[in-house]
Amino acid sequence: MGKYFSFRSLSVVCLILAFFIITPDSGFAASREYYAGKPVKYVFLFIGDGMALPQRMAAAQFTGRQLLINKFKVQGITRTRANNRFITGSAAAATALANGVKTNINYVGVDPAGRALKSVALLAKEKGRKVGIVTSVSIDHATPAGFYAHIPNRREYYRIGWEMAHSNLDYFAGGGFKDPDGREIKNPHGNLYKIAAENGFKLVDTRQALEKLKPGSGKVFAYNNFLTEEAAMPYSIDKKKTDISLAEFTRQGIRLLDNPEGFFMMVEGGKIDWACHANDGVVAIRETIAFDNAVRAAYKFAEKHPKDTLIIVTGDHETGGMSLGFAGTHYDTFFNLLQNQKISFKKFTDKVLQQYRKDHPAAADYAKFKPIITRYFGLKFTGDPKLDRMVLTADQQLDLKAAYDRALKDKNGTVLLDGKYDPVTVEITHILNNKAGMAWTSYSHTGVPVLTTAYGVGAGIFAGAYENSDIAKKIMSVMGVKPEVHYMNRKAAAAAQ
Ligand SMILES: [Zn+2]
Repeated sequence: MGKYFSFRSLSVVCLILAFFIITPDSGFAASREYYAGKPVKYVFLFIGDGMALPQRMAAAQFTGRQLLINKFKVQGITRTRANNRFITGSAAAATALANGVKTNINYVGVDPAGRALKSVALLAKEKGRKVGIVTSVSIDHATPAGFYAHIPNRREYYRIGWEMAHSNLDYFAGGGFKDPDGREIKNPHGNLYKIAAENGFKLVDTRQALEKLKPGSGKVFAYNNFLTEEAAMPYSIDKKKTDISLAEFTRQGIRLLDNPEGFFMMVEGGKIDWACHANDGVVAIRETIAFDNAVRAAYKFAEKHPKDTLIIVTGDHETGGMSLGFAGTHYDTFFNLLQNQKISFKKFTDKVLQQYRKDHPAAADYAKFKPIITRYFGLKFTGDPKLDRMVLTADQQLDLKAAYDRALKDKNGTVLLDGKYDPVTVEITHILNNKAGMAWTSYSHTGVPVLTTAYGVGAGIFAGAYENSDIAKKIMSVMGVKPEVHYMNRKAAAAAQ
């Protein structure tokens, strides 16, 4: 009898234990801060730069269906403030997401005192996992750099690239080096592509070469053959067939990184931010969709490895103060109108507008400029705006002409908005966005929290409200690493300098 009882009470204890230990992803455990189960083999962190709730919802409204990233059932609110400023930047945010520390604006991979931090990517590597870093902007940009570099100034692109070229991480992909020859510093040590190759990286820049690579054949740096401004991949709206997409870089990364010890992979949609800085809603939406497609590649992999995979999707901050809703359209939205835009603000300014300037040196040629606007953005100059929503209202006509005059006043260049943006291009995207029921309040970042969603084993710890720096610690716990701030040892930190 005694035996029976002890056996039964043991079973009860086991059941209770099993509830806490074996089912860390259950609803009950969802409020837990850290993961305590068996380390998750495959961990994906997707970061939409400049992507908060408005960007996610605008893209969903545009496509007419919910994005995969928004469908993940585990959702959390992530606060983004930096150590020394409420509104963060990509460097401080990446450092928090990768290393678990709130640092100063423009600091990459170092704490406010300048001490070098060990990121989740480097910790994963230490644990015997393979590591991939993928981005649609240059590989030395703030977000990817937060995972491998240690420099208190994000603008030192050569030094950041130098750390990447000496890195022991397995797969870098997307954009190239922004300052490969060190034009910005006094004593560069040579071309970074060359240095990367000398340090064992296989460099590939075409789809064919990338697809030919075999898993386990060493470190890879894969970048798109055609890089636009600042060594970034082209915007997906401007992409040619030969351009490799973010989803392809992700899929190929999964293929090359898959191994019995597992991997950690960070994928950044970096140009959502750039489009939002310029207030180009269509491009921001299309970049968000391209980002969602990259997450889909990981999701397909997760479906095949449901017991071993975790996908986390977050943003580093909101950009532009994008609002869903505009005074001029009251409670209505017309996102279908956004389909009329055929080109990014960037290509329009740099190519179309430049050419127009050359062909028509006199600003008085506005009549000749109108058909160009209609061609690329669908906005019409004649007709009844009440019958055809693409027809400009009298006020919009005046605003556009004023912006045109402002842009074309100077023969050599233009009066730039926020020091960067051509006024007529911005006026065009503002008008089109407003017609759809979208608006903007800033050319910079904003302080609204971002949404984090998660799917897979251990996803439950990403429910709730927390700081961006908590994400790194949560990821550490998922990979079987103590969830605390880890510093580089002195030797490694010195080597990184
Ligand atoms: Zn930004």
